[in-house]
Amino acid sequence: MSARVLVVDDIPTNVKLLETKLSAEYFDVLTASNGHDALALCEQGLCDLVLLDVMMPDMDGFEVCRRIKNSPTTAHLPVVMVTALDQPSDRLKGLDVGADDFLTKPVDDTALFARVRSLVRLKAVTDELRARLMASRHGFGDPLASATAETGQNGHILIVDDRPSSYERLSAALSQYHRVEVEADPHHAMIRAAENDYDVVLISLALQEFDGLRLCSQLRSLERTRHVAVVLIADIDDRSRVLRGLDIGAHDFLVRPVDRNELVARVRTQVRRKRFAERLRDSVQLTMDAAVTDALTGLHNRRYLDVHLANLFEDSIRRGADLSVLLLDIDRFKSVNDRFGHDVGDEVLREFATRIRTLTRGVDLVARYGGEEVVVIVPDASLDEARLVAERIRERIGSAPFSYANRTAQLDVTVSIGVAAREGGDSGAFDVLKRADIALYRAKDEGRNRVIAAAA
Ligand code: GH3
Ligand code: MG
Ligand code: MG
Repeated sequence: MSARVLVVDDIPTNVKLLETKLSAEYFDVLTASNGHDALALCEQGLCDLVLLDVMMPDMDGFEVCRRIKNSPTTAHLPVVMVTALDQPSDRLKGLDVGADDFLTKPVDDTALFARVRSLVRLKAVTDELRARLMASRHGFGDPLASATAETGQNGHILIVDDRPSSYERLSAALSQYHRVEVEADPHHAMIRAAENDYDVVLISLALQEFDGLRLCSQLRSLERTRHVAVVLIADIDDRSRVLRGLDIGAHDFLVRPVDRNELVARVRTQVRRKRFAERLRDSVQLTMDAAVTDALTGLHNRRYLDVHLANLFEDSIRRGADLSVLLLDIDRFKSVNDRFGHDVGDEVLREFATRIRTLTRGVDLVARYGGEEVVVIVPDASLDEARLVAERIRERIGSAPFSYANRTAQLDVTVSIGVAAREGGDSGAFDVLKRADIALYRAKDEGRNRVIAAAA
């Protein structure tokens, strides 16, 4: 995952050091030696992540961070504050101004890359979500605001740790912001994670007789849990297992003794990333739904029908089951438009679709076939059974007048329906549709408002 990282430090050797490390891992690096230059680069949208030194003349790192987080064009940029080890209060101050995470000087490679990768992942989902929200017309409100307003609080957190002194500390720190649960028996952790909707699972790597990495790997590979964020809690000499954990999909780690503010910041980042990713998946689903849905009636569209009718046809052959098709066409619909206008015509189409839907089952496929034509595919129905379904629909359409806004006259609507069933010699769904179409034509011909079943 490549990204553009902005390194901000007033001491050239510090800049050079981070630049060298990051470039070696194929990140693009930009540098600034003071806050003003850094802010300008951020405003121009030239970076994806900021590594920010705290101690700088003129404008210190806290002020730079505050400005980044207060500007709508840069608020979504992740900021990592680079603090001195002997200044834990800096981290609290950093959290206050909106910093996303912390690194301690001298900067350790594992920590550096874990922080950067974790935040770049967050930025990637945020960017994608903002782009989608901006492009979509689904009315999510202001996309910029909704993408930055996510606070990463009220997460659902599971701590997997068998040492009371350890999990009590972690739990106490996180409970202020999240709903926290503890699982002291790692053997139960997997099932528990699969049965609950956790945002983050913290796994101790110091479990007795249990390898926390195995749990990490299981969480990341099982469908039910693979979206949960995994954060490892490691001892200082656990370096190689941390690296292994990051390789198999852990999102981040913390080193004991766990700094309270680091813990809070890191978990918050993971909660935010997970929520953005969830919203992204939802929006992808919406987009896919929109592509196969008819906008006027909410029925499936022709594209959806084409794919699924072929599937249903093949499926009925495999199972040796019946498959029937209803082709419906509103009678004299042109005259509805002519007398009442196109808008009323649209209202009639919507009501038409609604009435059909109430008389069909979930397994039936209802699609808008053309202007005022609708297809209903009825799996497992013989020609006779399908004819009864069609008769019920015809009755339901013709028996009660359609209502419409600004009603000026009674609006009676009738429908003609052609019905056909799959036959042994059919080579594809098209053959069935074709017979339904011929039957429909006969229904029109014989006076409309009637059901004609194709002769078997
Ligand atoms: P028939 O009984 O023979 O089916 O007569 P008809 O008037 O229903 O048939 P025709 O196919 O001549 O006319 C269909 C009309 O449906 C013409 C078209 O303007 C109208 N139509 C098609 N799509 C829409 C739509 O989305 N909204 C509205 N309001 N009208 C539509
Ligand atoms: Mg018609
Ligand atoms: Mg027509």
